[in-house]
Amino acid sequence: MTGLMAGRRGLVMGVANDHSIAWGIARTLAAQGAALAFTYQGEALGRRVAPLAASLGSDIVLACDVEDLASVDAAFAALDRAWPEGLDFVVHAIGFSDKAQLKGRYVDVTTRENFSRTMVISCFSFTEVAQRAARRMRPGGALLTLTYGGASRVMPNYNVMGLAKAALEASVRYLAADLGPDGIRVNALSAGPVRTLAGAGIADARLMFNHQNAHAPLRRTVTLDDVGGSALYLLSPLSGGVTGEVHFVDSGYNIISMPRPEVLKA
Ligand code: NAD
Repeated sequence: MTGLMAGRRGLVMGVANDHSIAWGIARTLAAQGAALAFTYQGEALGRRVAPLAASLGSDIVLACDVEDLASVDAAFAALDRAWPEGLDFVVHAIGFSDKAQLKGRYVDVTTRENFSRTMVISCFSFTEVAQRAARRMRPGGALLTLTYGGASRVMPNYNVMGLAKAALEASVRYLAADLGPDGIRVNALSAGPVRTLAGAGIADARLMFNHQNAHAPLRRTVTLDDVGGSALYLLSPLSGGVTGEVHFVDSGYNIISMPRPEVLKA
């Protein structure tokens, strides 16, 4: 199947390097004909993102630090100059929390300052992006964010990120209800563990990978292509009747409760 995204323009936020989930999504969408624009956080990452964008035929590469609202507005203003016709979709693959608080007991390590910062960057930025993107979209538009199973179940060390993802998933539902009458869909992908910069910030990430490999129904972690394929579904007309969903792409891990008896007996 090719050309599912032909004629569609989309903004991809959150590429740090070629291991980023946003990059896996971008290359899948480009292969289906999407025209892409990218944002990056800080000049150092910009130098990495520009050649990646160019490899997909994009020269729209915009600085955007979502902690600074003026930076978000400047990125959308620049996007208006590049795409005066507006845009069809946004991928929001942005998350941050103080690494020192993604280790140990949530009850012990979490501070008010980092709670607020984590919420603004990892959760509310999606709403602020949606507010700006929706004004530039026609019916058929789609917004997608990235979440993790730690939103609804306790994952060791995920801590305050779990709270931010829970709020992010709730915001997907509220945004979907508000923007649905305009024909704009809003969904989240809940990805299993992927080896990325952000993923490496969580203590004992290696153990999470091993656990996923041993216990997920598919007995493996997910690939960037797995996540890209699910994003293609949620951003393309294939999912035209789907909004407000949190769609798991995690090798089925979320359905599992107790480890298999043979593992427990070993
Ligand atoms: P990544 O490190 O490649 O991407 C995270 C991105 O967030 C980076 O591009 C970084 O620049 C950006 N970012 C952080 N603070 C920002 C700010 N203030 N302004 C703008 N951008 C900012 O890691 P990733 O794993 O690809 O993360 C992408 C998304 O996927 C995140 O929301 C993450 O929580 C989510 N996710 C990751 C996993 C995983 O196992 N890696 C699993 C499920 C969900």
